[in-house]
Amino acid sequence: MVLKTDLETYTHDMETGLQHRVAIVAASSKGIGRATALALAAEGTKLALCARNADPLKQVAEEARKLHGVEVYTDTLDVAEDDRVRQFVEAVHRRFGHIDICVTNAGGPPAKPFAETTMAEWDRAYRLNLRSIVSFAHAVLPHMQQRGWGRFITITSVAVKQPVLELVLSNAVRTGVLGLVRSLATQYGPHNITINNVGPGYTATDRVKDLAQANAQATGRLAAEYEADIAKDVPLRRLAKPEEVADAIVWLASERAAYITGQTILVDGGVYRGL
Ligand code: NAD
Repeated sequence: MVLKTDLETYTHDMETGLQHRVAIVAASSKGIGRATALALAAEGTKLALCARNADPLKQVAEEARKLHGVEVYTDTLDVAEDDRVRQFVEAVHRRFGHIDICVTNAGGPPAKPFAETTMAEWDRAYRLNLRSIVSFAHAVLPHMQQRGWGRFITITSVAVKQPVLELVLSNAVRTGVLGLVRSLATQYGPHNITINNVGPGYTATDRVKDLAQANAQATGRLAAEYEADIAKDVPLRRLAKPEEVADAIVWLASERAAYITGQTILVDGGVYRGL
């Protein structure tokens, strides 16, 4: 990992100890998941990637192989289907012989006012953004426990600390992940497995474009205006790049974060105003 004092200037190299580790990165065909996969590959980590659509996932795998020469395994699945998650994890273990790092991720629930949410959407949000993490934890942690080393990292949102007005589904369901992370950190600490959560703020990915589109339909405001308004509310006055969220995940996965567990690290440009 190269630490940067600003986006252009490299200062010094930091040994991450990630070379030859094996990392699962879920929902990694686009956005933050994709950036995380490529950032880990840059450290020499072997990858196991999954998402619902084969073609974009294969492109990410090709990019990682070409740019960084790492071995990559891919599978096409919906992380809400626990049988498929279990099969994937077992296939990764058979392929590589061990699993060191697991980064959970998924798409976010739709943005809408509470009164317009349906019970089917609540069920889907629970399956996608909380239950899927339980599936990965069930499947992966026994392998890490056997090796006496592991990093389990969840991707949620700044909404776990500061609810976002139009994202009631996300606000409610994702806070459960914090309880899970804290519980697992206590239980798996003695096995040298750290469990942490990363909460992105507004990040320039398709997710923000989708939210801008939903807002444009609801209010008639242009999508570009929505993005500019978001940036105004961020102390750093811009959206994050997905690579900036990925850098925090790489650090948590590395040897340099060996004593950090049970934490939520926000990568939000200062959006969360609490202490
Ligand atoms: P994105 O839409 O750019 O990418 C989402 C990825 O998840 C894609 O690869 C997609 O194929 C995959 N995916 C979606 N549903 C899936 C499923 N059921 N099974 C398997 N793969 C699935 O989104 P992003 O911006 O990278 O966001 C990643 C996560 O971070 C989301 O949960 C999002 O809500 C959250 N988040 C994003 C922002 C932001 O501003 N972008 C802010 C806070 C939180």
